[in-house]
Amino acid sequence: MTKKDYYEILGVSKDSSKDEIKKMYKKLALQHHPDRGGDAEKFKEISEAYAVLSDDNKRKQYDQFGHQGFDQRFSQEDIFRNANFEDIFSEIFGSGGDNFFDMFFGGGRGRRREQRGSDLHYEIEIEFEEAAFGTEKEINYPRTEACEKCKGSGSKDGKFEKCDDCNGTGQMRKIQQSLFGTIQQIITCRTCHGSGKKITNECKECSGSGLTSNIKELNLKIPAGVDDGNQIRVSGEGDVNREGKHPGDLYVTVYVKPSEIFRRESNDIHIEQNISITKAILGGEIDVPTLKGKEKLKIPNGTQSHTVFRLKNFGIPFVNSKEKGDQYVNVIVEIPKKINNKQKDLLDKFEKESKKKFGLF
Ligand SMILES: [Zn+2]
Ligand SMILES: [Zn+2]
Repeated sequence: MTKKDYYEILGVSKDSSKDEIKKMYKKLALQHHPDRGGDAEKFKEISEAYAVLSDDNKRKQYDQFGHQGFDQRFSQEDIFRNANFEDIFSEIFGSGGDNFFDMFFGGGRGRRREQRGSDLHYEIEIEFEEAAFGTEKEINYPRTEACEKCKGSGSKDGKFEKCDDCNGTGQMRKIQQSLFGTIQQIITCRTCHGSGKKITNECKECSGSGLTSNIKELNLKIPAGVDDGNQIRVSGEGDVNREGKHPGDLYVTVYVKPSEIFRRESNDIHIEQNISITKAILGGEIDVPTLKGKEKLKIPNGTQSHTVFRLKNFGIPFVNSKEKGDQYVNVIVEIPKKINNKQKDLLDKFEKESKKKFGLF
């Protein structure tokens, strides 16, 4: 059976540009997509043509060797393997063509991406001030790493035999149903995970797994402004995968101890500050604790209890920002429970004076 010319299939000329080819394919894909009631075989035909003509290297070889020569060099899988349909399908349908390969070659195969290792989780508790200013902590946690002795190969001497299950090919055949009926699918060998090899002498250190569990020491940077329950992702510090590569990430949940002085609300901090009755009446300056140490706060005369004063930018910084929250000082006027006779005399006079002047009390 002679196949139709790829240029003819797409209805473009031999010297058409990539853009023209893409435009034409988009038009035809809209027409023939099986999800839109199009003919699957026709859709596959135009997609194959596009996969070849949109790839500079494949197009060159196709032009040079013609259909027959090209087919000898490329399998159907090869043709679709690295073709970029995602762009086009997100343009047309608003979502990627992730399952495109599966559509033609059955599910489960996809584009083989090496699996990442597992993500790991760790919890740490820090002081209130450490959260406010940022800190560095050394943490230790068990982590799966590539065995150092055998460099992750699992072999004691670096010698291997052929894997029995796939006869050294690293692949297995699988029969599956797809859009085009029963197809034979090539999958990665489960025994050797695609390497095609069997270890002759196992590495003693890792019992042939190529992996070891180590205690990882990590210097964890905790940014200023981190809040209770925040999570920090440390990229690439999780477990490695079965091949000893592509580690997952480490997620550290940070718990912040409460402060005895400050109460945090988002990036603002709040304190309660007692002041004397005379300071409230006469006004003056008081010292208040802040994250930066003691700070002077002006109390105007006639300040009522539970008046809240704001110290701008005395709060906690926002993570990765120069901005800061504020500090709020709630002043509580303290009524003395015990006074001496002299104080009593003075207050008696104070009361008489108040009555005379304002008719108060
Ligand atoms: Zn080893
Ligand atoms: Zn195998």
